[in-house]
Amino acid sequence: MRNQLELLFKVQTIDTNIINSEKLQAKYHDEIAKLEEKIRGEEDQCKKEQERLEELEKEHRNLERSLNTLEDQKKKIEDKLLAIKTNKEYHAALQEIETVKESLKKKEDETITNLDKIDSEKTIIKKLEVDLKESKSEYEEKKRQIEEELKNHLDDIEKQKEKRVLLVEEIDADIFSDYKRIQKVRHGYALAIATDEQCMGCSMKIPPQIYNEVVFAEKIKTCPHCNRILYVQYETDGKENKA
Ligand SMILES: [Zn+2]
Repeated sequence: MRNQLELLFKVQTIDTNIINSEKLQAKYHDEIAKLEEKIRGEEDQCKKEQERLEELEKEHRNLERSLNTLEDQKKKIEDKLLAIKTNKEYHAALQEIETVKESLKKKEDETITNLDKIDSEKTIIKKLEVDLKESKSEYEEKKRQIEEELKNHLDDIEKQKEKRVLLVEEIDADIFSDYKRIQKVRHGYALAIATDEQCMGCSMKIPPQIYNEVVFAEKIKTCPHCNRILYVQYETDGKENKA
């Protein structure tokens, strides 16, 4: 029976590796998804700032048009001044010029403020673009690294699966169907190491009588608490050889 238990132990080791491999793949998948989400967020931000810049530039063009119109108005009044005959008309024209000048001053101030905003917007965008570029290369690098690691890992898992097929062929059909039944209930872990009267699967104490039977390994014994098949691991030149 010890031989059967050793085979089961080897199969369980491979099954555990397969479970861990699935966890690893899920972890890698999460990492990639997180980086993709980060990039999407940065792209959205870039787009938003780009739209804001376009708005500001549009505003700038409007301000320039207003300035030109006001300059034209001012020039027309100045031309008119030369042809004016009466004092009253003259004062009225001067008043008009003052009003236009005030408007011009206001528009010029607005233009300066707007240009400042355009400048800082461009700085923001430049920084975002640098960040985005960094995120993208980080993503590419991570993806490449993960794909390589995963490929090596999965190649190894494939080899283990092939080995598993050969191991299973040597296991008694009834024993293996018990193993599979327990595995289903215990989320993949059907076999537990027993050491110093303790089940390492559930950490509970194993009654001495059962533990002795596990050590003798004359028949398959299960943990009275978690129902896993118990297995005592011997060192390579185990106690039995020395005894
Ligand atoms: Zn147990």
